[in-house]
Amino acid sequence: MAEAPPAAAIDTHTHLNHPRLHRGLPQVLDRAREAGVAEMIVVGYDLPSSELAVELAARHPGLWAAVGIHPHDASHVDDKTLGRLRELAGREGVVAIGETGLDFYRDLSPRQAQMEAFESHLALAAEMSLPVIVHCRAAQEPLLDFLAARRIGPVGDLPALVWHCFDGSEEEARRALDLGMALGFGGMVTYGKAEELRRVAAQVPSGRFLLETDCPYLAPEPKRGRDNEPANVAVIGERIAQVRGESGGQVVETAAQNARRVFGLTDRA
Ligand SMILES: [Zn+2]
Repeated sequence: MAEAPPAAAIDTHTHLNHPRLHRGLPQVLDRAREAGVAEMIVVGYDLPSSELAVELAARHPGLWAAVGIHPHDASHVDDKTLGRLRELAGREGVVAIGETGLDFYRDLSPRQAQMEAFESHLALAAEMSLPVIVHCRAAQEPLLDFLAARRIGPVGDLPALVWHCFDGSEEEARRALDLGMALGFGGMVTYGKAEELRRVAAQVPSGRFLLETDCPYLAPEPKRGRDNEPANVAVIGERIAQVRGESGGQVVETAAQNARRVFGLTDRA
């Protein structure tokens, strides 16, 4: 028999601000709550989606916001954009800067522009004392080198950086953990070929992992190919629980505690 859904799941990376989910938001939130997902972070990827994230966090209990410009749009980040992000970052319910980072897979913005935008996001996060949600695709080594060169590390015992939808190697995970990062695990951990990622999930210290969906993207098996949503976060927790030899409830609970600590959720509730 399936165990009862735990009460305290937190989806630390959602795009409820994306038109594909925003359209049916009341139903999406209902299904999330039925599945035991009490809180969700709505992550911005450009200025309009960051504005909407802040608005959603103000309007719905249990929703939090992150504001930032995705590396795809890095070439559009200028002083005006950063000024607006700074204003948004000071609003009620904003718990992180992001998503920012490096995407050398699609290369939609020049790599130099991506690094400059990432640097600006890191500076803003330091100024606002907020953690950073990092997107990284096909750029694991450059990302780790970039952070190591800046001696970015844990702030006190809080991981200041969250590597969202981590899909790097065991070695890259070790380097990220050494830098004080927390690793977010999403639907990819359920995919057939993700053996190495499951080994990472099995070994990551219990204080350093988060659960996330990245909805509407990356739906977990067996829902792959459909729109993802926060209600699926328990499926990801279950798969991680199998490889860690823990119960799904335990993994969800530990991840929720980590999310509260990393994003300071209790302080703002
Ligand atoms: Zn995302």
